[in-house]
Amino acid sequence: MHRSNTCGELRISDAGRTVTLAGWVQRSRKMGGMTFVDLRDRYGITQLVFNSENDQSLFEAANKLGREYVIQVTGVVAERSNKNSNIPTGDIEIIATGLKILNKSDVPPFTIEDETDGGDDLRMKYRYLDLRRPAVRKNLELRHRMAFEIRRYLDSKGFLEVETPVLIKSTPEGARDFVVPSRMNPGQFYALPQSPQTFKQLLMVSGFDRYFQIVKCFRDEDLRADRQPEFTQIDCEMSFVDQEDVLQMFEGLVKHIFKYVKNIDFTEPFPRMTWADAMRLYGSDKPDTRFGMEFVELKDLTENSGFAVMDDAPYVGAIVAPGCAAYTRKQLDKLTDFVKRPQIGAKGMMWVKLETDGSVKSSVGKFFTDDQLKGWLERGNARPGDLMLILAGETMKTRKQLCELRLEMGSQLGLRNPQEFSCLWVVDFPLFEWDEETQRYYAMHHPFTAPNPEDVDMLDSNTGEVRATAYDMIVNGNELGGGSIRIHDSELQDKMFRLLGLSEEDAQYKFGFLMNAFKYGAPPHGGLAFGFDRFVSILAGLDSIRDVIAFPKNNAGRDMMIDAPAEIDDSQLDELCIKVDIDEK
Ligand code: ASP
Repeated sequence: MHRSNTCGELRISDAGRTVTLAGWVQRSRKMGGMTFVDLRDRYGITQLVFNSENDQSLFEAANKLGREYVIQVTGVVAERSNKNSNIPTGDIEIIATGLKILNKSDVPPFTIEDETDGGDDLRMKYRYLDLRRPAVRKNLELRHRMAFEIRRYLDSKGFLEVETPVLIKSTPEGARDFVVPSRMNPGQFYALPQSPQTFKQLLMVSGFDRYFQIVKCFRDEDLRADRQPEFTQIDCEMSFVDQEDVLQMFEGLVKHIFKYVKNIDFTEPFPRMTWADAMRLYGSDKPDTRFGMEFVELKDLTENSGFAVMDDAPYVGAIVAPGCAAYTRKQLDKLTDFVKRPQIGAKGMMWVKLETDGSVKSSVGKFFTDDQLKGWLERGNARPGDLMLILAGETMKTRKQLCELRLEMGSQLGLRNPQEFSCLWVVDFPLFEWDEETQRYYAMHHPFTAPNPEDVDMLDSNTGEVRATAYDMIVNGNELGGGSIRIHDSELQDKMFRLLGLSEEDAQYKFGFLMNAFKYGAPPHGGLAFGFDRFVSILAGLDSIRDVIAFPKNNAGRDMMIDAPAEIDDSQLDELCIKVDIDEK
């Protein structure tokens, strides 16, 4: 046996016991005739003491230990005189009587501690060392706990976990597919699934009734912000359900996770908001509802002022930042610069202050009377000391800009506490999204989403206005997951493909298997998928999903540790009948 106990286990009640521990040398300190070593494993840190008076040669051996050496130590548990209340084992130490070096270590490229001196790239290259840091390990422990609780909840509700294939057919719709050449079928390619969408629907046709899978999905996108080319979904599907059944079931899942993993009890139903309201009040289909600051529309109050910025704009919208009338010129200029950044793209920002004495001050005071300005403030329920920030322009664009400004103000005012959780459903998404560039409709969710039964008559006449039976779960301004009730009728599915500009041949080629399946008794069904990495990062209070993935890729899609992607041998290429021709430009 290598060890009798772990490094996180021993307490004062173990004093006097002879034990054997094994682990990594976190650090050692020599103080006169004594050497103290912090020994680390997954479970914690225990202090070892090597005393020259007890055993001179053991003491000398201990002084030769380097950082990250793997050692086995035998000794007696003793009460510490100098207790450390920061760690659970801080009341004891091990008076060493034996030491065996199990393996040496090179000096690690960064310190293996929560506060490390290693930069991002270095830590990614040596991810196996980064994973030794308790802060990183904790995230993976949380991930495990969540996966376990997800399976426990879904199993208790009769869901079956079924694996679906990873080598499938390319059906580009939405993101770009990763493809894999087939050696046995020269010139042909598999694709990696963007999600198991069609397979889970086929499982419903097969009568599986309730399916789930914690599953890897692959999307070859430019890695904006916080995306990974491979990520994990909690993918679910149910038969004989309508939207309400699905929302209840998976609201239950989210509440279960919060309760059993975070000890947070959500007793009230999660609020629901239509997509149209979310856009109108927050300028986003994933509003951060940890704070209010909802949009106020001012267009009707600003007309015919002679101020072209507002007169010419179809939309004038504002937020009221509580207590911010004291903002200085400099702070306001900074906010203007913020909304003018190319990523946000506003042309400028206007403001009105309701001073604590009730007077008003505004950047557009030249064009409006105080009474007019007070009318705006009133509509925004502003109180003395509040600041109104206003943007004007094209409706959807300006709402998105105002959304960024609102989030920025939320951050500045400390209203976005990562340890506070605000969940809601956004429902009634539009079925289609019009794309100016290609002059065609795209499915807002995906082509299998059913239209709202009330709107089916408008499919041809008023396509853009048709609502989908689709829903998203939002937590703290993040899309945690989303799904829809599906089309289960081959004729309607056919029509949907046509509206999306797919020819009959195209639809047959890409989705023939599904259309065929629908001819053999497809039950009504629906489901959703949660982004598992995102779910873990939200519960961990982290901004990045990278920190909750054991071996993530960087922003260029590279695995810095194994150095992938990489070129392959000519012989491999030959076998695949592939010639590489990299265009120099
Ligand atoms: N497959 C969908 C997605 O990946 C989720 C769903 O509709 O169930 O977004």
